[in-house]
Amino acid sequence: MFSNESHGGARSRSLVITAVVVVAALAGGWFVYDAQHDSGPGPAAAGGSAGTAPAAPKATRGGGPAGSPVAHGDGGATPSSPAAPRAELAGRTVVIDPGHNLGNAKHTSEINKLVDIGTNRKACDTTGTATNAGYPEAMYTLDVAHRVRTLLQARGAKVLLTYDGDRAYGPCVDERARIGNAAHADAALSIHADGAPANRFGFHVIAPKSVHKGAADTRAIAAPSLRLATTVRSHFKAVTGEPLANYLGGKGLTIRDDLGGLNLSTVPKIFIECGNMRNAHDAAALTNAAWRQQAAQGIADGLTAFLEGKR
Ligand code: ZN
Repeated sequence: MFSNESHGGARSRSLVITAVVVVAALAGGWFVYDAQHDSGPGPAAAGGSAGTAPAAPKATRGGGPAGSPVAHGDGGATPSSPAAPRAELAGRTVVIDPGHNLGNAKHTSEINKLVDIGTNRKACDTTGTATNAGYPEAMYTLDVAHRVRTLLQARGAKVLLTYDGDRAYGPCVDERARIGNAAHADAALSIHADGAPANRFGFHVIAPKSVHKGAADTRAIAAPSLRLATTVRSHFKAVTGEPLANYLGGKGLTIRDDLGGLNLSTVPKIFIECGNMRNAHDAAALTNAAWRQQAAQGIADGLTAFLEGKR
């Protein structure tokens, strides 16, 4: 679950320590993994810093993400990457939660088990939706999560994913929340795409309602989460051009107390439903790698603005 932490640790140790066989082995594993996600061996200049390589990776990355065969080989053109070296998120921790899991469909009994979300009991997890042509939400969410991670790491943030294609199913929604809590994340965001009727389109963000019931206590995070929601909403809209959902009241924002991932969070957290997979126009966007890079850019920009106290 915290594989990203160990990746980060291995990364810095491998640069600082010269002759530790165990560390070398760990680092080897990490580089194999990371090669799929990260265009630059930036940490080479990380010096003595622990974990988050500041300025160096960005310099390496400068024009990097667009051309190189990163991020699962779908090489979508990176549109508006700010590119300039920035370390504005150094010392900040962000947890990205890719909604669902491709393996959930094969583990229905496990994911149907009920978990306590404070206001209710709910299924551990769900399979998520898909486009009419069969592109699964779980594939979309993990892809965008990787792209967001790359962008935020380039700005100096420590980024954890709640899972990274490294488990058969889940995590359950309560665990997804706890991962953000345990990391003392400065912000957490769960990536989804909706499965609404075909004539509905657009994106929306979901913020936690202020609740205090059972294990759910969102009183302290409701306000900052709402600010996170509206900030991500404006940046996502600006970068992608995706309209606000033409349903759910038209504001592109809902406040809910029925989502375990929000109810059980003790750190500012939101969901984003990036579009409606059942709508032809949105499906064309969601299945397009270049658009997914824009989606990631909008999410990363929104998170960055939130963490900097901007809107
Ligand atoms: Zn979903």
